[in-house]
Amino acid sequence: MSEERVSLNFLEHIIEEDLEKGYQKAQLRFRFPPEPNGYLHIGHASSICLNFGLGLKYGAPVNLRFDDTNPAKEEQEFVDAIKRDVEWLGYQWDTERYASDYFDQLYDWAVLLIEQGKAYIDSQSSEDMAKQKGTPTEAGSESPFRNRSVEENLALFEGMKAGKFEEGTHVLRAKIDMASSNMLMRDPIMYRILHKAHHRTNTDWCIYPMYDWTHGESDYIEQVSHSFCTLEFAMHRELYNWFLDQVYEEGNMRPKQREFARRNLSHTVVSKRKLLQLVEGNVVSSWDDPRMPTISGLRRRGYTPESIRNFADTIGIAKRENLIDVSLLEFHVRDHLNKVAPRVMGVLNPLKIVLTNYPEEQEEWLDAENNPGDEAAGFRKVPFSRELYIEKEDFKEEANRKFFRLKLGGEVRLKNGYIIKAESCTKDTNGNIIEVQCTYDPKSKSGSGSEESLRKVKGTLHWVSIKHALEAEIRLYDRLFTDESPDTHKDKDFMEFVNPDSLEVITGYLEPSLKNARIEDRVQFQRIGYFCVDPDTTSEKIVFNKTVGLRDTWAKITQSS
Ligand code: ATP
Ligand code: MG
Repeated sequence: MSEERVSLNFLEHIIEEDLEKGYQKAQLRFRFPPEPNGYLHIGHASSICLNFGLGLKYGAPVNLRFDDTNPAKEEQEFVDAIKRDVEWLGYQWDTERYASDYFDQLYDWAVLLIEQGKAYIDSQSSEDMAKQKGTPTEAGSESPFRNRSVEENLALFEGMKAGKFEEGTHVLRAKIDMASSNMLMRDPIMYRILHKAHHRTNTDWCIYPMYDWTHGESDYIEQVSHSFCTLEFAMHRELYNWFLDQVYEEGNMRPKQREFARRNLSHTVVSKRKLLQLVEGNVVSSWDDPRMPTISGLRRRGYTPESIRNFADTIGIAKRENLIDVSLLEFHVRDHLNKVAPRVMGVLNPLKIVLTNYPEEQEEWLDAENNPGDEAAGFRKVPFSRELYIEKEDFKEEANRKFFRLKLGGEVRLKNGYIIKAESCTKDTNGNIIEVQCTYDPKSKSGSGSEESLRKVKGTLHWVSIKHALEAEIRLYDRLFTDESPDTHKDKDFMEFVNPDSLEVITGYLEPSLKNARIEDRVQFQRIGYFCVDPDTTSEKIVFNKTVGLRDTWAKITQSS
């Protein structure tokens, strides 16, 4: 975990105040409550790091609670993916819970409310109910069914549960206040009929509780002390409390809902519903496509759990929504991979060079440092021979003095190897350079200690020996959306901003040590960026994803355009 912050965020202040007022530390309990209707995204990471972070800080249990009250959208696949992602981020939940574990209890409490005259069955159409809702400044009007007798309500509710009615024919509503200034208090729906099988309770139920009725009561059943949710639920707090009032018994922990701002990331969308649209519309290949802002997509892209936690920690918790630039997320993965990723050489855009004074059949295995920042990472061997690839952009026939790479008549050092000099080049009929003939200085070998090996030349290039090179499929990514906040335009759908060039697939030539790389291994291709082995890799073909470049090129491009 990252180092402890000294200053407290406003939610920690609330907890500290509660501790001062008499809460015992042992009473603290938190939960992370995802709905299993999609994969977790980077926004959820904030909520996960918040809740599990508080758990670690106070030594308090944190439940993973699936908010599974809508069988139309929820699936076991999503439950499994969510568990995998939370664990991968490095957190351990105390108990795995499901709102559906509480369906019986919630039903019994609903019956109690009916008996107390605090809930009734409304048999109007949803359109009619909507008409009676009123406006924020005008009171709503009461349903003609509002004063049904307790007996009739009980009988109808039982009938709903028994499957006697079609969807949409009846709902159970709390009887609160149709004139409340908070529209959510105007007789909110507690149950609706849904003839759908549930991924856990199967066909046991055909009535399902609504979010508001479920969430606070689930917190209460689990004796959660602080229930943190995002700001869109601020207006729901009054209802959360009203529902709690109906079941609360003295001596128990009374959960407290508090709200913090949703986190939005630039050039993407953080909403399961919208991410589902990208998957279903085949804009991306899957939920874990490396372009997705999902935890599993970031993982496949090469992100480390540490980098995501550090990002969440840096942006912290806020009271107001804002847009976090994706380059901050990239900064954190670059920062972490710089410390842990082994260095290797790979050429993505090859240009052949031939060392004319290097014996044809000769090859040698040079020592290469795995991580200059970490001595313990040790050395590996890389093969050197007469014919090599360097990057196309590292050679120019002519260039000014500021071009420290290879030019005709100029010298560079080949990393871990020798100093070479470009003597001539060959072009195809279109004038493209296809080969550069060089000579090498046999005494200049890196690390040999000779006078020549210490000779300074301005440029150092990465390279691979052609006959030893490992061919790999390299997937390069760009922003998934061309717009900074694609889903905030009133007149345009976010799908209109999909970047058609977000994926480019090329062939790269890598040093042969990478033959043994395993799925999810992360490396730095020197002078290029960080890459990670994709699960599409087979024994025939190795596939790398580019995680991020060594520098923030995006900022430069947008500044200069
Ligand atoms: P989505 O619209 O993506 O489905 P949601 O809020 O409906 O988001 P839930 O599964 O209900 O998703 O969220 C679980 C928890 O994560 C909730 O407490 C929610 O407030 C929090 N959360 C979701 N999105 C964000 C976000 N962008 N930033 C911070 N917290 C978030
Ligand atoms: Mg939701």
